[in-house]
Amino acid sequence: MKCINCNKRISSEVTFCPYCGVSINQEFSIDYFKTYIGNNYDILTTKSFSWNSLFFGFIYFFYRKMWVLGIIELLSLFIFYFYLGNYTYLIIFFMNLFIAFNFNSWYLEDCRLKVNLIKDQELDNNKIMELCKKKGGVTKTPIIILLIIIMGVTSFYFVKGVKNIITSVVNENIIRRSTI
Ligand SMILES: [Zn+2]
Repeated sequence: MKCINCNKRISSEVTFCPYCGVSINQEFSIDYFKTYIGNNYDILTTKSFSWNSLFFGFIYFFYRKMWVLGIIELLSLFIFYFYLGNYTYLIIFFMNLFIAFNFNSWYLEDCRLKVNLIKDQELDNNKIMELCKKKGGVTKTPIIILLIIIMGVTSFYFVKGVKNIITSVVNENIIRRSTI
């Protein structure tokens, strides 16, 4: 971002400009932060437990644009599912619970880092606000893609199942006829 007084490029963390010493208005930072988070700002900043995270798991990470953590959770679900035996569901439940208790603080930290990145790249306050709005908030795209994949896989297995039933019925008839 740039200093409002001397226009020099300064870090987003400072409260005073290191070049001219003018006090940097941190109110702006809160506005950026609010714009970045978008809807449910009050809930996310005041509650420590996230019900959305508990119910929607990795989908909620994607919805809130936390791609890395979302992918980590998705991969660990696969690993747990394929490599753990009887306790899989119990472990997944406790993992989800742990994530739900930490989700909001992780999310806020993620937002703070991303807003600071934007502030360090851009000099103009209006542009920073614009970028916060564009890069922050929520996205429904990954949920739609996931639904399409799930529907695709389900219909694939459905068609495959129906085909298997038909062929087994046909085969049975052939066997019956040939034995008669
Ligand atoms: Zn300055």
